[in-house]
Amino acid sequence: MAKTALVAGGAGFIGSHLCEALISLGMKVICVDNLGSGRKENIKLITENFKFIKRDIRKPLRISGKVDYVFHLASYASPPYYQKHSIETLMTNSLGTYNILELATAKKARFLITSTSETYGDPKEHPQKETYWGHVNPVGIRSCYDEAKRFSEALTMEYVRKRGLDCRIIRIFNTYGPRLQKDDGRVISNFIDQALNGRPMTIYGDGSQTRSFCYVSDMVRGLILAMLKPGIKGEVINLGNPDEFTVKEAALIIKRMTRSKSRIVRKPLPKDDPCRRKPDISKAKKLLGWQPQVKLVPGLMQTIKWFENGYRKG
Ligand code: UDP
Repeated sequence: MAKTALVAGGAGFIGSHLCEALISLGMKVICVDNLGSGRKENIKLITENFKFIKRDIRKPLRISGKVDYVFHLASYASPPYYQKHSIETLMTNSLGTYNILELATAKKARFLITSTSETYGDPKEHPQKETYWGHVNPVGIRSCYDEAKRFSEALTMEYVRKRGLDCRIIRIFNTYGPRLQKDDGRVISNFIDQALNGRPMTIYGDGSQTRSFCYVSDMVRGLILAMLKPGIKGEVINLGNPDEFTVKEAALIIKRMTRSKSRIVRKPLPKDDPCRRKPDISKAKKLLGWQPQVKLVPGLMQTIKWFENGYRKG
């Protein structure tokens, strides 16, 4: 009998790719999304073995029938959006996580929560291993996301300890690809949108801060491997691409790839912006046999194509 996966946040950027991949593996998918940052357009081509429920996880969820796997990806995730919707972000990643954990417990489902590299804050250790506790400003402008995700992790671990729920915590590092929204405010989407439209490409600060960009298909493969892997209850695993680039390098690569005439301009660096970020993925390699396959330039090629063609080309 086909397995059923519930994906909270399934109409979002990563969530919608995950729904498709699960269906292609023969699963039935229930997608729960309040369409806060998710888009109906992201899932409009998914019809078979798919049910969409418009629901906000800050309210308790009742779902009929069996659910084997619960993926929790529901949250604003881009800095401008989570800061704009800061209280909602805090509640989605606290009360919302509680409601989803309760649902998984009631269904005796296996549970995967997507946490974030932001749990490491502005890290003092490099690259970041799962054992690093982080360097987070608990009251800064990013704390509505960072601390909420840290709370989600703590709550998830208590469901492992106290309820015996089979949970894994996945810390996602910067991810990009088709369906990243052009007004999302993240660096890759901003640069591509600006470059394609001849607008100035905005580097915040001097552009020497680094990020490591993971293509969405690699991320989705990692999430599914982590969910299907037995015997990893309570494990915390980084998923991301360890190839590290400065923001300035990313701007120049995108400018070159799009043959853009855009100027590169400087804007003030947002407060608490992490200086360096790069995942140590040795745990994912060892436990899941996972590592990214898509390098930055081919991944950007697909993403730029999508920004040019939009949903017509999926
Ligand atoms: N950034 C930038 N220009 C932009 C958007 C972002 O220089 O138009 C920088 C931002 O300050 C940060 C990095 O790019 O240092 C990554 O930002 P993003 O919002 O994508 O995600 P973060 O990794 O900070 O959560």
